[in-house]
Formats: sequence, structure tokens, C-alpha cells
Amino acid sequence: MTLLPYDPATRSAAASAFLARAGTAHRLLIDGEWALPHGGRYIDSTDPATGQLLAPIARGDARDVDDAVASARRALDSAAWARMTPAVRGALLWRVADLMEQHIDVLAELETLDQGKAYRTARFGELPGAIAQFRYYAGYTTKLLGTTIPTSIAHQPEGKQIFAYTVKEPVGVVAAIVPWNSPLLMASMKLAPALAAGCTVVLKPSENTSLTALYLGELLIEAGFPAGVVNIVTGYGNEVGQALAEHPGVDKIGFTGSTAVGKALLVAAQGNLKRLTLELGGKSPAIVMPDADFSLTVPGIARGIFSNGGQVCVASSRVYVHSSVYGRFVEELSQEAGALALGHGMNPATDLGPLVSRVQSDRVAEYVRGGIADGAEVVAGGVQEQGDGAQNFFRPTVITNVRQDMRLMQEEIFGPVVTVTPFDDVDEVIGWANDSVYGLAASIWTEGLSNAHRLAARVKAGTVWINCHSYFSPELPKGGHKQSGWGYENGAQGIENYLESKTVCAVI
Ligand code: NAD
Repeated sequence: MTLLPYDPATRSAAASAFLARAGTAHRLLIDGEWALPHGGRYIDSTDPATGQLLAPIARGDARDVDDAVASARRALDSAAWARMTPAVRGALLWRVADLMEQHIDVLAELETLDQGKAYRTARFGELPGAIAQFRYYAGYTTKLLGTTIPTSIAHQPEGKQIFAYTVKEPVGVVAAIVPWNSPLLMASMKLAPALAAGCTVVLKPSENTSLTALYLGELLIEAGFPAGVVNIVTGYGNEVGQALAEHPGVDKIGFTGSTAVGKALLVAAQGNLKRLTLELGGKSPAIVMPDADFSLTVPGIARGIFSNGGQVCVASSRVYVHSSVYGRFVEELSQEAGALALGHGMNPATDLGPLVSRVQSDRVAEYVRGGIADGAEVVAGGVQEQGDGAQNFFRPTVITNVRQDMRLMQEEIFGPVVTVTPFDDVDEVIGWANDSVYGLAASIWTEGLSNAHRLAARVKAGTVWINCHSYFSPELPKGGHKQSGWGYENGAQGIENYLESKTVCAVI
């Protein structure tokens, strides 16, 4: 098996220059300046496909978090930010989007080098998605409306009247804690609505993938945001993340990551009753009805699970197929899986890069081994690929004979592994689809659209797609039911997360 190679000599001058800056000076962004971490400690950020060093990034600690939160608090109360008109705030967000667009090639290259994903996925999927967040919420700054309220309060002093209204205010200092699977997109999904709402932010990227957040920091300075409005502290979750979650100067946490860490944040954040938005894990079912259009269904589900190596919260990881078309589906999906080219994300022919780390690749392999021991059958893939300096690759994997109670069916694997199970009865398959602690997303594949909408109503999930999977856009609210999260991102609901409502009731 060949893994498509990469020649580091083809790295762009812009990426090389940034890696040199990131590795020496551009460490933590605090109060509009680049600062070194108090502890003087660093984490090697490596290319997950080769293990080669990209740049050492700062391993921040609680002292750096104190500085960042103090800076965000000062900026929140500063005239430069608090009194900036909504239109100017919106123009700043739009300017960030313009700058990201100007730097899109190098941002996509850095995302690929740092995270492993195919360049195509970064350049034409995630980066445009991140830019769209800033443009979408730029338009919201001038539309954060309160209401006037006709009251029925009986007690009104003689000759006076009551005038009551609500106003929207920024919730305050936001800690944005994001994962490694789609680093810049996840960061943008927090920064854009938080800044549009008038909040200030301390961004903590994943220790595995901090480079594009630091690059974005440079663009935010260039765009002209006042000092301290956005601060960036890199480092580990149990150090920087924990310190942010416990910090009394943080008003809100916007978190995307695993359900286990989301639960830990509930405890850590209780001291000052921080507001919390949690975008957590998933185990999303796809239901294939007998009349599904296979020309959409097979590639749609393959993309849903294999894109980004299955490291996608909404990945279509559990597929239930009507028994009348089950055999054909397994065969066609296995062919799709086998045809995907594995290699370095920067090789233009690569469909699938490595998983983000050895830990993640071993974890996926362990799930597959455990499933086989429990009686599951691997019909495509199932193997880790290493060698010739390459590491962390995992073949797109299709597995059958998986019972509902198996870990393969119940737990989030976060790798390119899909289970396929036949069904005969609609009530039975809805029961299976809902038999999960998660409720993030689902898809239904059928040409019978009335039936599709009836099924969509019965699936417990924050998003249900019909004849597609993993379709996102800033205007489509996205969030988890059950243990997949609290609150919604995107759309009007996405900005409400960063706003408080104040009622003013006056006798005039
Ligand atoms: P993770 O929960 O391990 O880490 C996420 C972030 O939290 C990282 O920045 C990490 O450093 C930080 N963190 C870790 N421990 C912490 C602690 N004790 N206190 C504070 N912060 C801490 O998740 P991950 O492995 O980086 O990402 C994969 C997970 O993210 C998957 O479960 C996936 O489903 C989920 N995810 C969800 C969505 C969504 O929108 N629902 C999107 C993408 C990823």
C-alpha cells in the first residue's frame, strides 16, 4: 500500500515564514502584543503525517490565563470597544473575513500541515466556512434589537406612565475552548458571534492544532481590533482550559469538544455560575430506506464518515440500511472506501490524510480490534498504515455484524470507521437510531419526501439531513440534543449565546 508522499521543499514561503515567527516570537496574544509564556515551556507542534517538527508552541499556564483574562476585562470596559458603534464593529468583522480570504492558501496549508487533513478539505471546505462565519455575523452587529413592552402594571403614580423596554448586552469575557478536528472553523464559530455581540475573548486552541489560531491572531491585529479584545493562550486542556473554566473573571465558556470534558467544565465553571455553551460528541445515524437514490446515498454517506478521516462530530458513523438494499449498499460503500487515496494532506491526489496523532490512531485501532473480538466483521479497511516515515494513517473501514450493545455502535470513535446494519421495520430502526446517549445529527435517505419528514420528526437529534449529510452554513443552527450538548451555534441562536437581556422599567 502506498501512502502519497509530500516533499517539504514544496512548502510555501509564507508558511515557512509563519512557522519561523510562531516558533520564536508569536507565542501568546495578550493585550494586543505577542508574549512569551510565564513558565518558559513549549509543546512541539508536529506534522501528524510525518512526525516532523513544525514549530514549538507555548505551553501556557494559569499565570498566562490571568494576564489574558485581565486584558480581556480591560478591553470589555474600554471606550475603544464598548463605545465602538455596531456598524464599525461589523466592518471590523468583515475586514477579518477579507484578510482571511487574502491569506486563504497559507491558512489552508498550515491547517493541513498541523492537523493532517487533505488540503482540498481545508482550502475549499473549512476555510470558506470559517470566513463565512465572520461575514454572517458582521451583519448582525447592527441588528441586536431589544423590544418595547406595553406593561399592565396597575400601580402607576398619578400623571405618570410606565415605559419598559429590553436591551441586549454582551455577556462579557468569553473563554472559547476548541478542539483539533477543524481548528480554524471551530475557532471562527465562536469568535465571530462573540465579537459581533460585543464580547471580548480568550481563545484556547487545541494543543494539537494551534497554528492557524495564532495566524488568525496576526490577522485580527492587522484588521484593527483594539488591544485585548481577542487574546490567545495555547497549551494543554488541564492547564490552560481548566484555569479558564475556573477563572472568576470569565463570564462565559463557549466549548466545542468531547462530552467527557464538557461534563468536567460544568463542575469547573460553577464558582461564578458561568454561562456555558457545549458542542459535544456524537454518534450520528444514517437511515437508508429501500427507495434511496444510491447515486446520492453512497457518496453522501462515504463523505459523511470518511471526510477528515472521520474526525467530525457529526460523522455518519452508524448506518442502518433496509434489508432489501443492504447487500448492494455494503458492496458499494466498501468500494468507495477502498478507492480513497491515503497520503500526506499536501499531496494534491490525497483524499484522506493521517489521523491527528498516534494516540488517536491507536484509539481507533483499539475500537476495531475490540469489535472484531465481539463478533463484528470488517469488510473494508480495518488497518493502521505506518512506515517510510509515515504514521497515524488508518484505512477507511466498513464493519458489519455489529449489535446495538457493542462499543463500536455506542461510542464515538472519531475515525474513519462506519458500521452498517440491516433493518426491516421502521419502528425498529427509529428505536435503534435513538438508542444512544448522543443526539447530535442524523440523516435519512429516501425519495419519499413525506416519509422523510415523518422520520425526521421521530429522530432525536439537533440536525436531521434528508438526502445529504454534514451540510453546514452559518445560517443553519447546529447543536446537540441529549449528551451532545447545550445550546446552539449559528444563526440567530448562535449570537444569543453571547448576549444578556436587560429589562428597563421606568416611570416617566
Ligand atoms: P477534547 O474535549 O479532548 O478537547 C477539546 C478542547 O478542550 C481542547 O482545546 C482541550 O485542550 C480542552 N480541554 C481538555 N481538557 C480540558 C479541561 N479539563 N478543561 C478545559 N479544557 C479542556 O476534544 P478533542 O479530542 O480536542 O476533540 C474531539 C471531540 O470534539 C469529539 O468528541 C467531537 O465530537 C467533539 N466535537 C464536537 C463538535 C460539535 O459541534 N458538537 C465539533 C467538533 C468536535
